[in-house]
Amino acid sequence: MPAPPPETAAQTTAPTTLALATPLRAALGERQAGVFTRAFGHRTVGDLLAHYPRRYAQRGELTALAELPPGDDVTIVAEVLRCDKRAMRQRHGSIVEAAISDGTGVLTLTFFNQAWRANELIPGRRGIFAGKVNRYKGTLQLTHPDYELFDEASAPDVESWQSKPIPIYPATSTLASWKIAKVVREEVLPKLGHVDDPVPEAVAREHGLEPLDAALRGIHTPATDTDWRRARDTLRYQEAFVLQSALLLERERLRETAATARMPVADGYAARFDAHLPFDLTADQRAVGEQVEHDLAQAVPMNRLVQGEVGSGKTVVALRAMLQVADNGGQSAFLAPTEVLASQHLRSIAAALGPDLAAELMPTLITGRLTAAERKKALLRAVSGQAQIVVGTHALLNENVSFFDLGLVVVDEQHRFGVEQRDVLRSKAATPPHQLVLTATPIPRTVAMTVFGDLDVSTIAQLPTGRQKIESFVVPLAEHPRWQNRIWERAAEEIAAGHQVFVVCPAITPKEPEEGETENPIDEAADDSRPLTPVATVEQTIEAVRDNPVLQGVRVAALHGRMSADDKDAVMRAFAAGALDLIVATTVIEVGVDVPNASAMIVLDADRFGVSQLHQLRGRVGRGSVPGLCLFVTNAENGSLARERVDAVAATLDGFALAEADLELRREGDVLGSDQSGGRSSLRLLRVARDGAIIERARADAAAVLESDPHLADHPALSAAIADRLTDRTRDFLARA
Ligand code: ADP
Ligand code: MG
Repeated sequence: MPAPPPETAAQTTAPTTLALATPLRAALGERQAGVFTRAFGHRTVGDLLAHYPRRYAQRGELTALAELPPGDDVTIVAEVLRCDKRAMRQRHGSIVEAAISDGTGVLTLTFFNQAWRANELIPGRRGIFAGKVNRYKGTLQLTHPDYELFDEASAPDVESWQSKPIPIYPATSTLASWKIAKVVREEVLPKLGHVDDPVPEAVAREHGLEPLDAALRGIHTPATDTDWRRARDTLRYQEAFVLQSALLLERERLRETAATARMPVADGYAARFDAHLPFDLTADQRAVGEQVEHDLAQAVPMNRLVQGEVGSGKTVVALRAMLQVADNGGQSAFLAPTEVLASQHLRSIAAALGPDLAAELMPTLITGRLTAAERKKALLRAVSGQAQIVVGTHALLNENVSFFDLGLVVVDEQHRFGVEQRDVLRSKAATPPHQLVLTATPIPRTVAMTVFGDLDVSTIAQLPTGRQKIESFVVPLAEHPRWQNRIWERAAEEIAAGHQVFVVCPAITPKEPEEGETENPIDEAADDSRPLTPVATVEQTIEAVRDNPVLQGVRVAALHGRMSADDKDAVMRAFAAGALDLIVATTVIEVGVDVPNASAMIVLDADRFGVSQLHQLRGRVGRGSVPGLCLFVTNAENGSLARERVDAVAATLDGFALAEADLELRREGDVLGSDQSGGRSSLRLLRVARDGAIIERARADAAAVLESDPHLADHPALSAAIADRLTDRTRDFLARA
């Protein structure tokens, strides 16, 4: 007898008890499972159960029923007040109109040619209603809403009906909230067998957590608010614990691989470099330098993140690390996020090395824009080991690029590179190379722990002495439209004094923001305080500058990502050499560009940028012997969230304080994004901005568990949860936040 096809088997023999790993189609049947997979990517029972309610509704909760905005999709818990069925006057057919109320307002439901609705929508029945609000003849109504009426038997008295929280799920047009609730409540939870809890019992007891099984029931079918709160706390902790365990495990895994130790050499390149350094290293540079020196000398790969303000001298620290590796015959790859930065790094590295060391170490540039001949030469230098230092962009990741002995990978500006890209570069070494990640974006401790939890973190907090002060001002055009021209007068004054000026715009041409470059980490949809006026563009601004009488004779140029690498480079060089007075740019200049004579940074439509971007932009001035001036020009209204962000940046120069303030300002649209689609890998209940204490506790607990059981041999449930949750996509997603 031929065996039935496996699909059929799955459909017909629904298991009587479900586990988290049970395929959804085995639990719900092919058709219904398909609906969940298409809507949310759910594939297992565990995926569905991790689709937590977004919030819990209660009768009377939506107080301003009468003020519901037309056009919005709403979900309302309410009671049917009355219901009328009548024939339509103009056309053939019937119309059912029901009025519902949540106790504070009234809304009309309208159904055409569905007379049977009147049999269901009996006055006094309560339920949950969803649809798009529209206005008809002065009243608000929902046309053909979805609804589910509560079972009167299960809600016998008004009291319990009023207090019972109703889960509201992230829903789609094909899968309404209560359909999800119903499936979870009726088809999944009753059959759910024992679930293994990734949080060890001792840890759970210490924090007063519920068993996972109870928490899943509590979050989906709470009888009281206390139920879901308790469940949520348990699941939130669990999320933090699994994530931290995963990160720590990853860190251990890297440590278990062997790397080539690169010992400090007494009178090698590094020593020669130090001897000719034109300044004293700051105490922080020295301390971080020693950590790095120590890490490099180990036979396990270094995995260190160095964070420090723009201009704090991270590059020098990285260069000294590269020299220590070179002292042992190893090569270093320095990965920069843009062509402009890569060529600037190459120039400044060559300059810092001086002619002798540069000749010996042969720092070499590899970008996508080299000519065929240049490229061939550069590749040859890398593969032969002649070039001890190779600087480049993403082009370094190209499969044609190989090294003789790659010992160290330095990644500048972590945020632009994903984990996978770092891995590609790492794979170019025979043994895993050491890795140093530099970031000028100060990262609050809990974010570092969550996003870079597998790295060791060092901080350069102090700036080299003798740094110029930077004054920041908000120019609020909403309140003071006339200040517009004052901006250009200030620019002219700086230029007259022999200095140079950056002007930054959010876009290149009208209506076409530069891809990735006006990227704002704030959830745009959530921020309606953003003015709707068109944003300043490079093209228009450069015209305005040229036509402005106060800027007569000023040498100006544009700089943006749509220019060829050569053109960008030429503009940057001319500006650095003082042959240009003013450049109008996009955020291509955000990171790392170093022009000591630049004294003013004018950011137009500053509210279009994120807090850290603004701070980075400000860091472009005050780098030499002249004090810096930073003007954040904005049309955002005083008191709007957009304006608050700009004000926050202007109020302090302390990047760490700003990073914390940024977290606060992000409120709901939190750092890690709020992925309501419920895909497999996003953080669900954990909010880095709010849950710092939980994250720290979870990390300590996870460390203790791994200490006693490094391979989680005795913690199979934790091991499985890690395998399930921590995908590279999560990491990339987190790293980009
Ligand atoms: P970062 O990469 O952190 O933005 P850089 O390493 O590019 O900073 O340093 C910025 C500038 O400061 C460079 O011109 C560098 O030569 C200089 N610099 C670095 N460290 C010191 C120091 N300890 N004292 C004085 N100048 C320094
Ligand atoms: Mg730098």
